[in-house]
Amino acid sequence: MGQYFLYLSAYCYVGTDSTLQVSRAPQSTPTARDLHHCSVTTIITPLGYYPCMSDVSIENVRKVYDSDPEVVAVDDVSFEIADGEFLTIVGPSGSGKSTLLRMIAGLEDISGGTIRIGDRAVNGIQPQDRDVAMVFQNYALYPHMTARKNMSYGLQLTTDLPDSEIDDRVKEAAEMMGVEDQLDKRPGNLSGGQQQRIATGRAIVREPSVFLFDEPLSNLDAKLRLHMRTELQQLQDKLGTTTIYVTHDQEEAMTMSDRIAVIDQGTLQQIGTPDEIYHQPKNLFVADFVGSPPMNTFEVTLSDSTLVGSGFEYELSEDLLSHVSQYAEGINEFVLGIRPENIRLANGDEPNVISAHLDVREPVGSDNYLHMDIDGEECWVRVPGGVTPETNREHEIVFDEEHIHLFRHSDGINILAQEKSRLETPAND
Ligand code: ADP
Repeated sequence: MGQYFLYLSAYCYVGTDSTLQVSRAPQSTPTARDLHHCSVTTIITPLGYYPCMSDVSIENVRKVYDSDPEVVAVDDVSFEIADGEFLTIVGPSGSGKSTLLRMIAGLEDISGGTIRIGDRAVNGIQPQDRDVAMVFQNYALYPHMTARKNMSYGLQLTTDLPDSEIDDRVKEAAEMMGVEDQLDKRPGNLSGGQQQRIATGRAIVREPSVFLFDEPLSNLDAKLRLHMRTELQQLQDKLGTTTIYVTHDQEEAMTMSDRIAVIDQGTLQQIGTPDEIYHQPKNLFVADFVGSPPMNTFEVTLSDSTLVGSGFEYELSEDLLSHVSQYAEGINEFVLGIRPENIRLANGDEPNVISAHLDVREPVGSDNYLHMDIDGEECWVRVPGGVTPETNREHEIVFDEEHIHLFRHSDGINILAQEKSRLETPAND
């Protein structure tokens, strides 16, 4: 009772950006395709017994690559992941997501800070001693083994579990992943989706405290990706295993996660629930990165109680003005942000009506996206599918004041989504 076998599957790969990733104890014979993309080798080692505490804490973590020139890939990042939470790290390519995940796995040394898994600081602890299982973009299955063998191999190699127990675990994981009738096939005879399920099943049989997923759905077609998103969520709900998931796809992050950590240029921009990230972006980067089409932004100057933009003026209500005055600290240059669904066509005589030219109407079924132009500034408006204003003419539109964001022009901080005390520390929570 209370004892756990701990395993880690560590991989190496040459990423598509030609960066050489950490290699540990290569044992597999990757296919040419694997080698081209990023696959991989694996080790699985029995580690002993630890109590299963699976919250994860990232404390002022930093990674500097001693390349020429030196690269600061992760810069003083701190956040916590609760036991059983599904946290997604999202950001553009090169922002440091994989480096952070590999540091949690132990595949990269940490230049500064502390990583804890449960109550153990794991800096300097070997990957195989960290009680995590990692699933990679290119699955890293042994091509010469059946799916069953791929899933059971690690347990057979590294534990003294009886064969019957291993068989049961494999069967159960395969059923969970819906691949129980594919177990006797080799990876080459499986579809991308099936390989992905086997790779995930292989992580499940290890019963780790933490799952680490590095862009696991990137190689699947759009429809399958949508389906697998749901499957992985259901799986995580069922197992309750702490999960850290890396993706560059903001939509994937928004739909799958309990919380999202948005990262850019190695620094944490914001961490919060999908709702918080979408509705209260802390800065312009987050506002722009999350949402499609992205938030509309317009440079404005605050003059008395009016925001003056190019081609429009917006008179602030007393409420909004008092909030702006409280946090503006004398600044009057801002970027006004508003999401497409928070703009509507005017109903006639109402305040703050803005004239915009409708260039294109894009129907997407339930909604229409209107591509408009306000004095040369692009503006996306989302209206219900039944609303079909005429193209190539001027229309009057209205911003919903409740959903206006104001970002300081100087540093991009959203003064309407921040507590004053947090304004001083823009990058990290
Ligand atoms: P992401 O996963 O967000 O695409 P990475 O974590 O892979 O980003 O990379 C972050 C930064 O670190 C990038 O600038 C990348 O080029 C750099 N980098 C990654 N690995 C190495 C390495 N082994 N040596 C030098 N620079 C690296």
